[in-house]
Amino acid sequence: MPIKTIIEPFRIKSIEPIRRTTHEERQKLLEAAGYNLFLIASKDILIDLLTDSGTGAMSTEQWAAIMRGDESYAGSPSFERFRNSVQTIFGYRHVIPTHQGRAAERILFNVMCKKGDIVPNNTHFDTTRANCEFVGAEALDLPIPEAREPQRHHPFKGNMDVVRLAETIEHAGAKRIPLVMLTVTNNSGGGQPVSMENIRAVKTICQRHGIPLYIDACRFAENAYFIKLREPGYAGKTPREIAREMFSLADGCTMSAKKDGMANIGGFLCTNDDILAQQEKDLLILTEGFPTYGGLAGRDLDAIAVGLNEALEEDYLNYRIVSTAYLGNHISKEGVPIVQPPGGHAIYLDARAFLPHVPPAKFPGVALACALYVEGGIRAVEIGTLMFGEHATMDLVRLAIPRRVYTQSHIDYVIEVILEVWQKRAQIRGLELTHQAPFLRHFTARFKPAEVEEVKEV
Ligand SMILES: *Cc1c(COP(=O)(O)O)cnc(C)c1O
Repeated sequence: MPIKTIIEPFRIKSIEPIRRTTHEERQKLLEAAGYNLFLIASKDILIDLLTDSGTGAMSTEQWAAIMRGDESYAGSPSFERFRNSVQTIFGYRHVIPTHQGRAAERILFNVMCKKGDIVPNNTHFDTTRANCEFVGAEALDLPIPEAREPQRHHPFKGNMDVVRLAETIEHAGAKRIPLVMLTVTNNSGGGQPVSMENIRAVKTICQRHGIPLYIDACRFAENAYFIKLREPGYAGKTPREIAREMFSLADGCTMSAKKDGMANIGGFLCTNDDILAQQEKDLLILTEGFPTYGGLAGRDLDAIAVGLNEALEEDYLNYRIVSTAYLGNHISKEGVPIVQPPGGHAIYLDARAFLPHVPPAKFPGVALACALYVEGGIRAVEIGTLMFGEHATMDLVRLAIPRRVYTQSHIDYVIEVILEVWQKRAQIRGLELTHQAPFLRHFTARFKPAEVEEVKEV
């Protein structure tokens, strides 16, 4: 019999202790933090699933590359290695390093957009939306209708609605649409992949109207692997070949190296357009740095140069996708409502279905995230009414999995904690705001348990 068990494709050379706390300690810490997990110190967290951004473990090759980093202000060989890696995988003429993905977005929208423009995307990530709106353009989300139903299965639930894209261009006129973006995988839509067929269909529409297509490439390797697994005709191709094909359909990309760059910091902006590249580099010098380092240390550039290649290794991608699904499938099997199917980097609990007795105005996502912390010291993040205000259509709790950090026994522990909270769900109360900031309130909001609440049987 062939061996079926999938294992972590690495062994552990350096360890970082994590600290257990008691139920009582966590209850006190949570009260002191105003029921906001952003305000809890990481030393008081046992399993931190707040984000997969910059929280991954680097490999021995990456640490070796860090020592090779050359910190020269201009013309560093670290930049040469970085540019070679990026160009080999992404294939674009110009590679502009930035300190994070959002810096690439800011430069891109500053150069390409003006007030009154529209930028369609399958779903804008929050920093992408904010940077787009900051220059006065409208950030328009055009996900396929299936994406709005958490429990609905679809192999490429991250796809863009191409009919609505064509209508939007028809209606607004191509002149008002300086670029179209595709986010792979669709982070805000549940870490769901975009198919090659959809990228090609979007490209065809863009080409017809002379509109450039840019890819928000943060999880390009995970997206490429989903295409290999799910899209007819791609089973025999390598993730690298699939990534090359994805990028060949676009005119440029933005990237956060904190995701599939396997680094703790960094990002970049790519384009094939010589004139745009010049304008982008001029802006880069103003706030990020000289074009051969762009706000990064030479050692960061070297870590990314290695990390981008490691993210495309099939053993790694198989482990990554299988281990995320392992968490999702185990809790879903017991009836826990999640966004289906499991995404690449995270599992999203559907808090409205999990806590039907807590109305959206009493923040079911925050209440559920707090319950996971008190039960087992797990930190997750609400994506719902707290983050988006009363217009939120869903209240989700995202469990993002850092790359190469936790083992299967950690995930088994997370499953047990979630199932314990699921058993006790009828006792979970909603929350009321006691403090909020005028914008991005989720980072600093404070709560107290809701006063009177009718507890329904579930
Ligand atoms: C993380 C992320 C960004 C922004 O990158 P930062 O490095 O956090 O600035 C943009 N788009 C998507 C889809 C992301 O996941």
